[in-house]
Amino acid sequence: VPSLEGRYSGQNVLLVTVDTLRADRLGAYGYSRATSPRIDRLAERGILLEEAFAPRGMTWPSLASIMTSLRPASSGVRYNGQHLSEEIPTLAKQLQAKDYVTHAFVGNACTMTRQGFDTRTCRLPDTELTDLAIEALVSTVEDPNEDRPWFVWVHYMATHTPYEPPNEFDRFRDPDYTGTITGDRLELEQLMEERVAFSRADLEELNGLYDGEVLALDHEVGRLFAAVDELGEREETLVAFLSDHGEDLAEHHDYLFHACSVYDSSLRVPFIVALPDGAHANTRVEGVTEVLDLAPTLLSLLGVPPLPAAEGASLASRISHPDDAVEDRIAYSEYYDRDRELTIESLRSDRWRYVFNPARLTPQCLPVGDFYQVEQEELYDLVNDPGETENVVHKHREVVEQFRQLAKESARKALLGEGVEYDESLRDELEALGYL
Ligand SMILES: [Zn+2]
Repeated sequence: VPSLEGRYSGQNVLLVTVDTLRADRLGAYGYSRATSPRIDRLAERGILLEEAFAPRGMTWPSLASIMTSLRPASSGVRYNGQHLSEEIPTLAKQLQAKDYVTHAFVGNACTMTRQGFDTRTCRLPDTELTDLAIEALVSTVEDPNEDRPWFVWVHYMATHTPYEPPNEFDRFRDPDYTGTITGDRLELEQLMEERVAFSRADLEELNGLYDGEVLALDHEVGRLFAAVDELGEREETLVAFLSDHGEDLAEHHDYLFHACSVYDSSLRVPFIVALPDGAHANTRVEGVTEVLDLAPTLLSLLGVPPLPAAEGASLASRISHPDDAVEDRIAYSEYYDRDRELTIESLRSDRWRYVFNPARLTPQCLPVGDFYQVEQEELYDLVNDPGETENVVHKHREVVEQFRQLAKESARKALLGEGVEYDESLRDELEALGYL
């Protein structure tokens, strides 16, 4: 098998990210409803990473990780509103330096995403983002004086609250539902605040609304892909599709949304790459990967210098050799408490999720309250319990011991930093709390 590294030198890149899209709601990832015909077709002509994870269930940290291949503690973007330092290299800057034309169309995280783009369009509805991205593609491709490759990034908001799919995509709800669920964010917060237990019909309504949003998103993505095809650019364009994080739909503690979550529902994401020449079409890569792997992968396929401090890894050789056994990798995610400056570490291997919360933090996110109870240690066996419902921390002591050491290493780095002078009293405090 010829190496993929540098094989796509000078090719275009279309990066599509979706806010709050769960992997398990796409046909390509095994969903039973027809929510994603166009995304599924992308997977058929590309490579699908089966087990991909976000570093946090929150937009800015995750998008920063996608762009920098750094974990939130290293990028410095640990919650929404934190800016990425100008000194940090990014995927966009790296491509810009290689003479790419770069355009971003983002529905969220507007200021965080400004670096490395010649133009940036923010906070418009998805349909307008698609229209403007297509316009930019047409004018770039058809400009006789422009022969540079392009990098276009579109970040859609569809599956983020409110869950209000346009009528034509609102196909997955029970028309006879009479309960209190709506797709309105404030109303949903209100229900959480009142600790309303969701009935089966409520959950079906909630999922039906969400799935309608996935279908609406699929339609927008389809328009974008069709434009690339119509411009005759498909065979010169690498396409990457992923989300910043998923969404909890009341699987844990009757919680909706994502910023509190330390579980698969909000941390597992879709991750699909389609190569310009159709190489490795319909390939499914098993094993854990992280969104941090995106930038190293694209840069290596394009033969562009890597990000010097990248914490992710190129997937190029795993794509060429999907059946090779790989070392069991761990995906690291965090919940960061910005007031106490402490973390909950959430680690995921192929089989296990381990959650390390020595300080007994209770994640705080809207609606404010102590309802998202995370134990000091949790362990889930995804093979037997894919919903992460039964904490088996007392049944697998050796597994827990191994994960605890990894979580401590990760926490040490995330809380004390690496290679910097740390304050002894902080170290003592973290030790007393059980992080070290
Ligand atoms: Zn988000």
